[in-house]
Amino acid sequence: MIRFEDILDKVESYKPDFDEELLDKAFVFSAREHRGQVRSSGEPYLVHPLNVAYILAEMRLDETSIAVGLLHDVLEDTLTTKETLQELFGDDVAELVDGVTKISRYAYVSKEEQQAETFRKMLLAMVSDLRVVLVKLADRLHNMRTLEFLPEERRLAIATETMEIYAPIANRLGMGRIKSELEDLAFRHMHPRECEELQRSVNEKLAVSGDIVDRIKSTLTAKLAENDINGDVFGRVKSMYSIWTKLRRQEIDVGQVYDYLAFRIVTANIKDTYACLGIIHQMWRPVPGRIKDYIAMPKPNFYQSLHTTVVADKGQPFEVQIRTREMDLIAEQGIAAHWKYKEGRIGAQADDSNFLWLRQLVEWQHEITDPRVFMQSLKIDLYPDEVYTFTPRGDVFAFPRGATPLDFAYRIHTDVGHHCVGARINGKLVPLRTTIKNGDIIEVITAPTQSPSREWINMVVTSRARHKIRHWLNTEQKHRSIDLGRKLIEKEAKRYRVQWRKLVAENALDAVLAEYGLPRLDDLYADVGYGKVSPRAVVERFVKDEQPPADEGVIQRAVRKIFPFTGTSPAIKVKGYDDLMTYLAKCCNPLPGERIVGYISRGKGVGVHSASCPNVRNLMFNADRQIAVEWADQRSAQFQIELEIAMEDRQGILARVVSTVANMKTNIRQMDSRSTDGKATAELTLEIADLKHLERIIRAIGDIEGVVAVERKFNVRHATA
Ligand code: MN
Repeated sequence: MIRFEDILDKVESYKPDFDEELLDKAFVFSAREHRGQVRSSGEPYLVHPLNVAYILAEMRLDETSIAVGLLHDVLEDTLTTKETLQELFGDDVAELVDGVTKISRYAYVSKEEQQAETFRKMLLAMVSDLRVVLVKLADRLHNMRTLEFLPEERRLAIATETMEIYAPIANRLGMGRIKSELEDLAFRHMHPRECEELQRSVNEKLAVSGDIVDRIKSTLTAKLAENDINGDVFGRVKSMYSIWTKLRRQEIDVGQVYDYLAFRIVTANIKDTYACLGIIHQMWRPVPGRIKDYIAMPKPNFYQSLHTTVVADKGQPFEVQIRTREMDLIAEQGIAAHWKYKEGRIGAQADDSNFLWLRQLVEWQHEITDPRVFMQSLKIDLYPDEVYTFTPRGDVFAFPRGATPLDFAYRIHTDVGHHCVGARINGKLVPLRTTIKNGDIIEVITAPTQSPSREWINMVVTSRARHKIRHWLNTEQKHRSIDLGRKLIEKEAKRYRVQWRKLVAENALDAVLAEYGLPRLDDLYADVGYGKVSPRAVVERFVKDEQPPADEGVIQRAVRKIFPFTGTSPAIKVKGYDDLMTYLAKCCNPLPGERIVGYISRGKGVGVHSASCPNVRNLMFNADRQIAVEWADQRSAQFQIELEIAMEDRQGILARVVSTVANMKTNIRQMDSRSTDGKATAELTLEIADLKHLERIIRAIGDIEGVVAVERKFNVRHATA
């Protein structure tokens, strides 16, 4: 329990000539005005202003700030007027108390507007007199410390506001100690179950490791003395909130928490900080990637320190922060430390780089009228690792740095993401790969024909977008395989006169599914479609007697394009099926009229090869994946065929070949020829309608005098399946 005398003692410790009369007067006035009021905890109300004043004294602020701490609630909660305060305590105190009171007074309804308004007022207060914000932070800190006495709904609202507004402001002002405590208290109320679980887990580990904090601390102290370094060593368990955020970031289970100890060494000068770091790394193995030099590169809020994490002998990691006394003061108190000895108004007019960001914000807030936009522009500065973007309608979305319009599209809606073809950023068309920047206004362009591709996974940074793309790709591939598998099995069943649909209806397949270890029929279809299971192997179980497979009449229907990205050929159809995903094998480009064979490629559909294609021999090694195919019709589609012509190297022979081809109304797409040792070869790429057409061409070229051989050329590749 804080007594008024404790505050006086505290102030005297850093400012012996302080104005004791002012504080006396403020205390007596506050006590009288709040008389009879009680807090939710049942304590007299005065306990609250006393605590707030004490927190301000711990920040080593001037007596005006401390008087304001004592008086900060009299305008809000008593009948006192601003004029009375002016008369009794002067303009400064009256303005400051008024400023503190105004910050939490809302004229708006929505949460965004309230938050925006709080921020706006805090900003303006910072510009006119920073002490308003410091008192407000002290006020919020004590309220958070005593939050458990409020009803749950109020508790959650205050905790959330603390996490979203007050802690970030404390952080931006470099007030590390208050920021950590605010966050930790807010966390306890926002996630009570997680916090308890984490606390228990850490306590269990501490119980096992015994007096580990003391042991490491005395080892460090002894080592410093040994090396003639003048420094103080502090050890503690990290705050539950900081442990929790780290666990979440690394997706580690609460039970697996290991990184919960932190030590601090405070030295007399910078040279010693680096010396300490060297000593520690000689004793214990440092964890790679965890060494940070914020002395050479201070944080935007002027925080300076060396950080490292090392592993103790029993595998226990711990973090060590090393800094000078001055840096330590700044790290704990931030802006309050900068200003503590200055008299009078403490504001942003000061020509201090501290306030550059603040002045910028104040300029913005004059330009931005929409509270949501204003909030977000503020957050840009309070959380510098995020990028804030806007929809043309003014909705705001935050992304990690490096995000692209694709991340943005998936954030709006999964379907918008799936069909995203590009974006307009600030009115300009940009490709999907573009990195989005703070303040960008993004308009997503979609097309119904667009769908995700594998490359997209590398173009996004948000886990949401990545997950949605993966999911689409997997589902899509599975759908196709199920479709193909079902058709293959039904076709096979028909050949053996097995009534497949009836079997399905009677659940006669359960035994088969169990044998393959598959939960559902679709999984069996998928495996058949992927080529993992042969359709015949499945169907044969149900063949009653020695039936020869039937050669059923083929249902002639056009093949639909269901496999657009491999280019289903409309000119072919697979014997006995419709809707089958077929594609012409690139190695041989089979021609209508010639004998063809189909081969199931995993996840790709049915590849159609010329029966004379050399690759087929390799592929057909796996007979289960072979299926019969035939041409659907003989339409006038043109196919590109390569011919290799061997001939004597005599004048005009190539011209005759070309004119022969041209006379047969056949287009030459490409031609290449060379000659060596009296022999010449030519390679012609021709547009051919069908096999008969090709045979006529080959015969005609072969009849030319001097032509030795004409052969169709195949591109032999390594067979892929
Ligand atoms: Mn208060």
